[in-house]
Amino acid sequence: GNRVMLQFKLVLLGDSSVGKSSIVYRFVKDSFDEFRESTIGAAFLSQTIKISGSSEQSETVIKFEIWDTAGQERYKSLAPMYYRNANAALVVYDVTQQDSLTKARAWVNELKNKVGDEDLVICLVGNKIDLCDGDEDKRAVETGEARDYAAEQSLLFYEVSAKTGSGVRQIFESIGEKLYET
Ligand code: GDP
Ligand code: MG
Repeated sequence: GNRVMLQFKLVLLGDSSVGKSSIVYRFVKDSFDEFRESTIGAAFLSQTIKISGSSEQSETVIKFEIWDTAGQERYKSLAPMYYRNANAALVVYDVTQQDSLTKARAWVNELKNKVGDEDLVICLVGNKIDLCDGDEDKRAVETGEARDYAAEQSLLFYEVSAKTGSGVRQIFESIGEKLYET
């Protein structure tokens, strides 16, 4: 049958230590390394997914070229280099750090100003939900707050844990489907 391969550039943005590299690592290698140094991020990785609903006669595969900032989050001037020509962006915050959502909002604004809405699928991602399992006191960002903000800005939204893997695959599947539709 037919095999169609679509390739998209995906970037990760967000405050340092929110778990961007860990999300990529989980998606690409299906593993998690508690002690990996935050500055040693794979700057470039790729991974493919099949689009659900593609029939046996014709199969559509989405290849993500993933650009992770290798610890340069602090140098905001470098960011345009990453997100130039991006098709999708994960804007990540840590659900236990309210300030990281403020940073995430700033990234969303920057993307919308510099790249434009129509060309870019943006997904807001709240990471580290495992830290709230059985300990809701640790949560600093309520799901509803982030979800309302995402809806208002027309962003995809997921809460995930790179540590357990919960929700990580769904991020890429829903982005893949959205990119495929457009
Ligand atoms: P980055 O700077 O945004 O790329 O963040 P990293 O992926 O380097 O992660 C920063 C720190 O948070 C590391 O110590 C990770 O082990 C930890 N971390 C990342 N994701 C999770 C998660 O889902 N749960 C928990 N508990 N820790 C995480
Ligand atoms: Mg990193």
